[in-house]
Amino acid sequence: WTSGTVVDAENSLTELAALAETAGSQVLEGLIQRRSQPDAATFIGRGKVDELRAAVESTGADTVICDGELSPSQLRNLEERIKVKVVDRTALILDIFAQHAKSKEGKAQVELAQLQYLVPRLRGWGEALSRQTGGSGRGGGAGGGVGLRGPGETKLETDRRRIRTRIAKLKREINGMRVIRDTKRSARRANTVPSVAIAGYTNAGKSSLLNRLTGAGVLVEDALFATLDTATRRTAARDGRVYTLSDTVGFVRHLPHQLVEAFRSTLEEVADADLVVHVVDGAHPDPEEQVRAVREVLAEVGADRLPELLVVNKADAAPQETLLRLKREWPDAVFVSAHTGQGIEELREVIEDKLPVPAVEVLACVP
Ligand code: GDP
Repeated sequence: WTSGTVVDAENSLTELAALAETAGSQVLEGLIQRRSQPDAATFIGRGKVDELRAAVESTGADTVICDGELSPSQLRNLEERIKVKVVDRTALILDIFAQHAKSKEGKAQVELAQLQYLVPRLRGWGEALSRQTGGSGRGGGAGGGVGLRGPGETKLETDRRRIRTRIAKLKREINGMRVIRDTKRSARRANTVPSVAIAGYTNAGKSSLLNRLTGAGVLVEDALFATLDTATRRTAARDGRVYTLSDTVGFVRHLPHQLVEAFRSTLEEVADADLVVHVVDGAHPDPEEQVRAVREVLAEVGADRLPELLVVNKADAAPQETLLRLKREWPDAVFVSAHTGQGIEELREVIEDKLPVPAVEVLACVP
């Protein structure tokens, strides 16, 4: 389901398929639903549920992934009707972040986000049964329901309590790590080395560009979200000034709010930069939409006040008419290809021109 046009829905679905493949799934079939509003009970409409169940049966799929965030009850209702596991976009993205987190802090943050997503979705037999029987066990039929409900609820309560304890512990740990991070941050600020943050939609080519600009061996993957933890490299301008370049977390449309929260401290580092190099994939069907999505997240962490340099990457692969359109739209953007090296020298010059010139001590000369 999407509030946009069918083309938006197709692009979004293609991206969802790429996300699912990144998470290790094999994608069998895509279905699009046209509606002005998601169905309150099952997210997609009743006719579509039947169509989906038929598709699941004919393909032998074991999971259905929905492009959106489903409420706990929509997820449950849909699972009951189509009889296979249902995953929403949020859970899928959380899963990918969990697979790719490398640093201790990154791992803790993703686990926290996953648990926060999980708590309202926890359910046990007890809950399912008390719903069927009106909440109090009346009319529980064969008595098995009543018998089952007790232990079920106890187990659910224990699970909830365990998760809450774990959440509290993770929060404490993350706070501790934040203190260390903040200290490092103020040290960086104090030593006045200008910093450039490379931001951009996931798969736009941020890591490739960082490699091109600094010759660093950062992992480049044709998978969404290869980058989770920031990688910082030092490099020197032609005039010898040293500055740092950091590759930031990949952005994605509808980044789950749990993750925006979790990665706030990582993203906030962007807000400390002297310049944001915003990388756009020129070969993507809708680069403008990606730019909007990234700017939204940048604004959330207060990085929208910083000078921004738009860089259209993959100029080697983008259609000519797209490049012409983007040039008209963003006359100040630099067009490059991290693959062929086209435009990289110009990019380096523009970056250097935009960096703050270090303060120079001027001695007053008295004649
Ligand atoms: P990130 O997620 O933004 O860090 O993107 P990556 O640097 O990992 O690149 C994502 C994919 O795009 C990889 O398959 C790269 O090989 C590819 N890519 C990066 N830059 C270019 C480019 O200039 N041209 C083309 N054709 N592909 C590129």
